Amino acid sequence: MKAAHTYVAGPDLDLVMISAAIQFAADKHRKQRRKDRAQTPYINHPLQVFDLLLRIGGIRDTYILVAAILHDTIEDTDTTADEIRDLFGEIVLGYVLELSDDKTLSQADRKRLQVEHASHKSYGAKLIKTGDKISNTGELDTNPPMGWDIARRLGYIDWAEQVIAGLRGTNSALEAHFDARIAAVRLAIAAEQLPA
Ligand code: ZN
Repeated sequence: MKAAHTYVAGPDLDLVMISAAIQFAADKHRKQRRKDRAQTPYINHPLQVFDLLLRIGGIRDTYILVAAILHDTIEDTDTTADEIRDLFGEIVLGYVLELSDDKTLSQADRKRLQVEHASHKSYGAKLIKTGDKISNTGELDTNPPMGWDIARRLGYIDWAEQVIAGLRGTNSALEAHFDARIAAVRLAIAAEQLPA
C-alpha cells in the first residue's frame, strides 16, 4: 500500500507530486480559515508560500516546494508524520517537521524558539520559513487578524524580522521581497496613526 501511494519527485512526476500535495493540504485545511478580517480560507496561506518560493525565490526543488504546500499540516491539522512519510517520503517529512512548532509549549516560548532556531534550519526549511513570514506579515496593513491593534501588528512584524535575521543569506530575492513588504506595511500602519 505504501509504495502505491508514494509520490516520488522526478522529471515526469513533479507535477503529479505537487498536485497531490495541493489536494492533500486543501483537504486537511478544508474547515480552517485564517484569523484575518477577510476570513481567508486557510489553504490560501500554504499556496502563497509555495508561489513565493516558485516565482520570487526561483526554487525548482520539488521536495522543497511540496513541503512548502504541506508546511502547516502537522502543526495545525490532524495530519500525522506517518501520513506525510507514506505519501511524500522522508525528505518532505523532514522539512515539515522542521517547520512544525511544538504545540505543548506556550506561544511565547514557541516564538522565542523560532528566533533561536532559525539559523540552524536546513536550506529548504529556511526558504519555506522565509516565505511563511512574508505571507504572515504581508497583509498586516490591509487585512490583519481580527482584533489586532496597531501595537500588536507592529510587534508581530518586529518578531518576524528577528526570525528572518536568522534565515538571511539563503535567498536574496525572497529576503528583499520580505524587506520591501514590511517596509510598505509599516508605512501603511504608520499612516493609520496619523490624524485624519
Ligand atoms: Zn505557515
